[in-house]
Amino acid sequence: KRVNFTDFFNRVVDRFEMNKDENMTFERNIPKRPIYVWIDEDKITQVLDNVISNAIKYSPSGGTVRFSAHSTRKQLRVSISDEGIGMPPDTVDKIFDRFYRVDKSRTREMGGTGLGLAIAREMIDAHHGKIWAESEEGKGTSVLFTLPLMNQNRGDHS
Ligand code: ATP
Ligand code: MG
Repeated sequence: KRVNFTDFFNRVVDRFEMNKDENMTFERNIPKRPIYVWIDEDKITQVLDNVISNAIKYSPSGGTVRFSAHSTRKQLRVSISDEGIGMPPDTVDKIFDRFYRVDKSRTREMGGTGLGLAIAREMIDAHHGKIWAESEEGKGTSVLFTLPLMNQNRGDHS
C-alpha cells in the first residue's frame, strides 16, 4: 500500500509517547512534508514497535530517544537512537540473529525472547531495505533502516 511515511511514523511514535515514563524524553526529527513509500503497514508497525520498545527497555534510567526520518534520492532512512546501556562493538550485528541476546544475565529480568530484531530484519528484507545498528557500551544504541522510495518523491532531494 502507498503510505505517507512521515504521518505513519508520527502516529506510531505518538502511541509510545502517550505511555512513556516521565523520566524519558522523546525528540523527533521527522519532516513535515510527505515521504511516500510502498509498504505493508502492519509489518513495518511490527518493526517500529520492536525497535522502539527495545530503545525504552534497554534505557533503564531514561534519557532521550531520538526519532528521525529523511529521504535521499533513492531511499528513506529512519533512525531510532537511545541513551541506554548500549552493547559491545562485536555484538551489533549478532542482535539480528534469532534468539540472540547480549549478556543473558543482564537481559533475563527484562523479558523477551530475542526474536524481535530477527523478525524486523526479515520484514525489512522483504521490503528490499536494510537494517543495522550502531552502539557504544554505556552510551547508547541507534537502530537504522532504509526503505526504497516511491517514484512520487522524485524531484525532492531533501
Ligand atoms: P523480544 O524482542 O523478542 O521481546 P529482545 O528485545 O531481547 O526480545 P531483540 O529485540 O531481537 O530481542 O533484541 C536482541 C538483543 O539485542 C536484546 O536482547 C538486547 O540484548 C540487544 N538490544 C536490542 N536493542 C537494544 C538497545 N536499544 N540497546 C541495548 N541493547 C539492545
Ligand atoms: Mg525486542
